[in-house]
Amino acid sequence: MNDTPAGRINREQQPLASFDESKRCIASASRFLPGGVSSNFRLGMIPTPLVIERADGPFLFDVDGNRLIDYYLGMGPMILGHNPEPIRRAVITQLERGLLYGAQSRLEAQVAELFHTIVPCAEKLRFTSSGSEAVQAALRLARAETGRNAVIKFEGHYHGWFDNVLVSVQATPDNAGDPVRPNRNPGSAGQDATAWGNVEVLGWNDLAAVEARLAVGDVAAVIMEPMMCNAGGILPGDGYLQGVREACTRNGTVLIFDEVVTGFRVAAGGAQQLFGVTPDIATFGKCLANGFPVAAVAGRADLLDRFVSGGAVHGGTYNAQPVSMAAALVTLQTLCDGRVIDAIAPLGRRLMTGIASHLTDAGIPAVVSGLPQIFNVSFGLTQPARNYRDLMQVDRLRYVRFCGEMLKRRVRALERGAWFLSATHDEAAIHETLAVIAEAAQEVK
Ligand code: PMP
Repeated sequence: MNDTPAGRINREQQPLASFDESKRCIASASRFLPGGVSSNFRLGMIPTPLVIERADGPFLFDVDGNRLIDYYLGMGPMILGHNPEPIRRAVITQLERGLLYGAQSRLEAQVAELFHTIVPCAEKLRFTSSGSEAVQAALRLARAETGRNAVIKFEGHYHGWFDNVLVSVQATPDNAGDPVRPNRNPGSAGQDATAWGNVEVLGWNDLAAVEARLAVGDVAAVIMEPMMCNAGGILPGDGYLQGVREACTRNGTVLIFDEVVTGFRVAAGGAQQLFGVTPDIATFGKCLANGFPVAAVAGRADLLDRFVSGGAVHGGTYNAQPVSMAAALVTLQTLCDGRVIDAIAPLGRRLMTGIASHLTDAGIPAVVSGLPQIFNVSFGLTQPARNYRDLMQVDRLRYVRFCGEMLKRRVRALERGAWFLSATHDEAAIHETLAVIAEAAQEVK
């Protein structure tokens, strides 16, 4: 499948990569696309946002002719690697049957049934086209169910780019405020303050803070990443998820796990399966269709049925678009028994251990934390972070330089510290990556 297997490259014979053609394309595209990109999260890459020509397995091939080992994986979705043949085949078959019906397909019901058998909370579900939309649907259901307005979210947790949730995602020491009751910081210019007026922010992994706030009895929903992935690979503390689950049940609050990253990645049934705690509602996206724009809101049947008999509205022209559903069906059929996800684990662990050891050799203090399918490298920490405040110690600038050095050596990892693995990252890719990391660490020590 991969025309230039990782193992065959002799790295020493390769000059450092240049990205001049990407730079030229971005400059040209910037005439019509602000910043030359279509998402703010693709801006600001060093030395440039990349322009990619094709992708295959664990590799991206850019317009400069570089073959890059990819740990971005489309920001997470490509758990089966780039361009897997079974998905391609299913999509081509569906393409011949039409693109969008404005009606239902048998496919979407099949995907929903399979989803239900895999994900513990998913008595019922609805499809959306993005994780951000799934989050909005979840919050609407929670407010419809409880008749309350207040929503609790956690510092550093990301739930999409919409006005009511882009709050305290990237707080800084200057604006974060008290760790127990953090300030609410909007993440964008132009955000409607009334939209986040009912959203309150707490520090994560602090059960007492959640219990105290929920006891007031006026909170519609608690929403969280059940493993903190967007701002650092932080696992829930012992008993934390269970404790929040119980506090929500006691106080009539809807518990929402945002599994857009963790779903179908940390276990077939997501973090809720891995940690054994079932939320009332969960949101999914990313790995659900291995690169196609499919997301979902899933949960208790009585809650999801509010879309039919409870007056709650949910729409979307492209929801359950048949071509995307064909991709989702094959993806879930491949992931459902957990074997693909389990097979990633030993290689992911090897990579985590190898990174930690090369950084130690270079004398760079760092913590590698999380799970082998999605982990985080935090420069500047000497022990694992427990919450967002701990992550404020991270040496971000040095890590960005480190990523730049890796990229010159044709390994692409997220500048914010996250590493995503796919089923196509084999021994050779990991071996080559670790050789690059050793060199990059020496460059920034
Ligand atoms: N929730 C989480 C936890 C996410 O990581 C993301 C995207 N990174 C979203 C929601 C939003 O998903 P999307 O980008 O598909 O709108």
